[in-house]
Amino acid sequence: MQLNLGNLMQNRAFLSPDQEAGVGDGYRYSYEQINKRANQVAEVLAARGIRPGDRVAVLGKNDEWVTTCLFGAAKIGVVTVLLNWRLHARELAFILNDCTATALIYDQQFTDPVEQIRPDIACRVYICRNSSSADPDFEAELKKMSGSEPQKTGSGGDPALLMYTSGTTGKPKGVTLSHDNLFWASIGLSHTIDWRSKSRFLSVAPLFHIGGLAPILANVHRGCTTVYMPDFDPQKIWSVIADEKINFLMTVPLMLQYMIMMPGMAEADLSHLNQIICGGSPVAQNLIAAYREKGINVHQVYGATEYTGAITFWTHDMPWEKADSAGKPVFHGDVKILSPDNGGELGPDEVGEICLFGPQVFTGYWNNPAATKEVLVNGYYRSGDLGKKDADGFVCVVDRLKDMIISGGENIYPAEIEALLVTQPGVAEAAVVGRADEKWGEVPVAFIAPQKEARVSKADILELCRQNLAGFKQVKDVVFVEAIPKNSVGKVLKKDLQTMMP
Ligand code: ATP
Repeated sequence: MQLNLGNLMQNRAFLSPDQEAGVGDGYRYSYEQINKRANQVAEVLAARGIRPGDRVAVLGKNDEWVTTCLFGAAKIGVVTVLLNWRLHARELAFILNDCTATALIYDQQFTDPVEQIRPDIACRVYICRNSSSADPDFEAELKKMSGSEPQKTGSGGDPALLMYTSGTTGKPKGVTLSHDNLFWASIGLSHTIDWRSKSRFLSVAPLFHIGGLAPILANVHRGCTTVYMPDFDPQKIWSVIADEKINFLMTVPLMLQYMIMMPGMAEADLSHLNQIICGGSPVAQNLIAAYREKGINVHQVYGATEYTGAITFWTHDMPWEKADSAGKPVFHGDVKILSPDNGGELGPDEVGEICLFGPQVFTGYWNNPAATKEVLVNGYYRSGDLGKKDADGFVCVVDRLKDMIISGGENIYPAEIEALLVTQPGVAEAAVVGRADEKWGEVPVAFIAPQKEARVSKADILELCRQNLAGFKQVKDVVFVEAIPKNSVGKVLKKDLQTMMP
């Protein structure tokens, strides 16, 4: 049987109609209500002439209506494009043109960027949530519709969702995810970690990243309740967790770092909180330990948009000495370490490219066969990450292949040097990038963001490296910056650092 993503919502509404499904500002919807709203979305789109295969872009913060649009559109074979609301209007226009979106559903708070790009994009339908503008109002449009179940169109390998990668290594590319990809990602999540039926999840990681979205699908599978928090507010989050009796949530490392510094953590009743999932970039073992000391389990997830999210998990019931790894592959996932040179499979502890197999592998970059061909090889995905697997199957992410510096024929992993640099007193953050060098090909250069009012000198950094690193890994220059440039989920933008290279 070929599945349509909309079946997930329909089946859950059939099995658990009254179970609380989505909670947010001013609403508490059951599964039956959300399924009806998804059907209404499908009717609104069809009434506006939007056809199977068309792209509908959605611009809104974490809220039920955003995910309901995805389920509704999927039911009639329409492809949803979840837009990153932190992008500049110019960047939004790039994406909307790249995927030739026919319709844009946006929240009123984004009226300004939408007005700016309207002349430059080819959308013919605009719908605004909380509209006071000339565009039709989302909720009013829904109310006009019956909410009856539509005839499903599209399934299996047909596209259901476009997610644009954050562009840390170039221009954003539209990762095309099929109904099957999303189905298997949700199975992978809900079978790998303790995803208890009817538990309560806090959606605070942005829905426009797969790490924020995929848990919602797993929640539908397991009949869980999703509580939506539109903005990450470290001051407020602990009281939301307590008041809504939250059992688990998805975060990125930066969020966890802020959250643990908040006084609200000690005051809140966290008796319902079982686990926090964290990933998107490496999660430091000492951060996991700091939460562990407070009785909170943090699970590290290593994921990629092209794998529909989670690749591996380190969970608290795995050995602590493996907590510096990214853990084991998700259920139904398969990770192999292949030689970047000849594609041969490498043995335990040998560093190579992390390659991903299984039903979570994306179908390609939207309208970009050249980029697709570079990473999709015989059905598997070349992640561009360097890593190794130990004899017990634990995967360790060493660095990005693109970030690796080759100096005089030797491989240098910037992540190793960065981990050393942050041990220097006074260093808040550090990033290492390669600079072209006539003699060595490339040499490492350190960018250092000192802590406020701390004194740290170039000589301190060079001395630290001299005492701890092999000769070929020595940084050749040190640049002090106020902050290391990062994207919306805290990933270092190395291409920006390249432009600041002395
Ligand atoms: P672009 O491809 O444009 O550079 P991106 O790679 O940041 O964007 P994502 O799909 O959001 O797009 O990120 C996936 C990458 O994030 C992985 O390939 C890996 O490099 C990194 N990553 C994610 N989770 C972890 C983790 N727990 N540990 C180490 N690296 C991680």
